[in-house]
Amino acid sequence: MFSKPSTRVSSGALRTPYRYPTKTMTVRNSVEVAIIGGGITGLTLAVGLLCRNVKFTIYERAQAFRELGAGIGFTPNAERAMKALDPRIHYSFRKVAVRNNDDWFRYVDGFHHNGNDPSDMLEMLMYKIYLGERGFEGCRRSDFLQQLVNLIPTDCIKMEKNLEEVQDVSDGSKVLMRFEDGSTAEADVVIGCDGINSRLRPLMFGQSHASSQPSYSHKFAFRGIIPMDKARAALGDEKTSTRLMHLGPGAHALTFPIAGGTMMNVVAFVTDPSPWAEKDGKFVAAATKNEAIDAFAGFGPAVRTIMSLLPDKLDKWAIFDMYDNPVPTYASGRLCLAGDAAHASTPHHGAGAGCGIEDSLALAELLASVNQRAGVMPIRNMVTKALAVYNEMRYDRSQWLVRSSRMLGEMLEWQDPQTREDTQVLGHELWRRCHEIWDFDVDEMVRNGIDALGWKLAKLPQPLFTEADQIDWI
Ligand SMILES: Cc1cc2nc3c(=O)[nH]c(=O)nc-3n(C[C@H](O)[C@H](O)[C@H](O)COP(=O)(O)OP(=O)(O)OC[C@H]3O[C@@H](n4cnc5c(N)ncnc54)[C@H](O)[C@@H]3O)c2cc1C
Repeated sequence: MFSKPSTRVSSGALRTPYRYPTKTMTVRNSVEVAIIGGGITGLTLAVGLLCRNVKFTIYERAQAFRELGAGIGFTPNAERAMKALDPRIHYSFRKVAVRNNDDWFRYVDGFHHNGNDPSDMLEMLMYKIYLGERGFEGCRRSDFLQQLVNLIPTDCIKMEKNLEEVQDVSDGSKVLMRFEDGSTAEADVVIGCDGINSRLRPLMFGQSHASSQPSYSHKFAFRGIIPMDKARAALGDEKTSTRLMHLGPGAHALTFPIAGGTMMNVVAFVTDPSPWAEKDGKFVAAATKNEAIDAFAGFGPAVRTIMSLLPDKLDKWAIFDMYDNPVPTYASGRLCLAGDAAHASTPHHGAGAGCGIEDSLALAELLASVNQRAGVMPIRNMVTKALAVYNEMRYDRSQWLVRSSRMLGEMLEWQDPQTREDTQVLGHELWRRCHEIWDFDVDEMVRNGIDALGWKLAKLPQPLFTEADQIDWI
């Protein structure tokens, strides 16, 4: 519905008049939001709603918030979305992020090498892309998640709540939720931020709908962390202090510093023609360092050295996504999907979580807009319209990411027939695709969305009450 921005401005300027959050929320006639899942999408949405004074509860199935110790990086669009949601999110990220040595992302040939001199760490530069000042910094996932949790009042979070069923009945004033422990809850809107194996997704489209199953991209990744002193001693400063993508046929590896520069994060991808063997939605399998060493045996000394530094016991992550079976829409009635639940992508753009943060921004702004009219118009109708607008705002862009990320995975492993090892073509495609993601104007997305919602609401029967109820902001 929305055309691409004609000018790609990226101000990240704040649009919403913020009312800074308090520990309790006692707004009368307000929208009540249920967020299913407390990953990066659910938590950033929660913080965004909190600072717009919209009432919410997070229902998380785990006993405690947990993320991997592994690293994550955020692209410039994601950082702008963090700022627009609540500047404290961005501040929190910067607090735990590690500054790259310089502002370029380097793609190097990790495969070709001269002879077998194990001390020859030279890798030919294939392409480098400017990240902008302090662009694409990485951090430990668990550090960032903890920062987000610290921003949210504990009484807005319910742990050990595994969503099983929802009922969005046409004559019901609220959506009903039922959890595995037998408890129930209700809300005006239910947002599934429950990840790639979302429970809400099959509840929206039916268990037999193709989208209820994510698909294997036929790549898996060894993930590990190497103490920086060990990595630096073996690889030198240049290879350890910034973001590097080591390319090769059928496999590639990404390295970047995390944890205050005390650790080097390694994600080593390998193409796997076989079906993923683990069952029951298990994407992680135990692996050993020797498997990683074998998978990269044909690569140059630098990549082989990286693999040799990994811990003896590793995890192997199957890379699943929603490429084969996309959902037809992100919204249905008063239910909707955000983040990986809606559009899980392979991680080759390093932009999946960032795209979830853009979703959070869109939802926080739309629901704040609905909240401002609560008491004037029926919440139920407004929420339905807001979610329809959310789908229009987010669907095309996030589905494009899923497709582009798959394609990039092929390019980085020289499997794409158009690019192969051609550095010029690869460089052009990389630049074009990365900038499509990074230059996205989140302010314009919000402006367009709020306008579209205004138009849709103007067409609803007006108004329910002759006098607007007083809203007590606290
Ligand atoms: C190897 C790899 C590297 C990546 N690197 C990057 C990167 O550098 N940058 C980037 O932007 N993205 C990256 N990504 C993508 C990123 O990890 C995901 O997009 C992001 O973590 C998704 O967050 P989410 O909150 O949507 O889902 P999740 O993180 O999956 O969170 C879902 C939450 O919902 C809970 N839940 C599930 N079911 C229920 C239920 N029924 N009831 C209640 N709660 C439930 C879960 O316990 C969990 O807490 C990478 C992905 C991989 C695999």
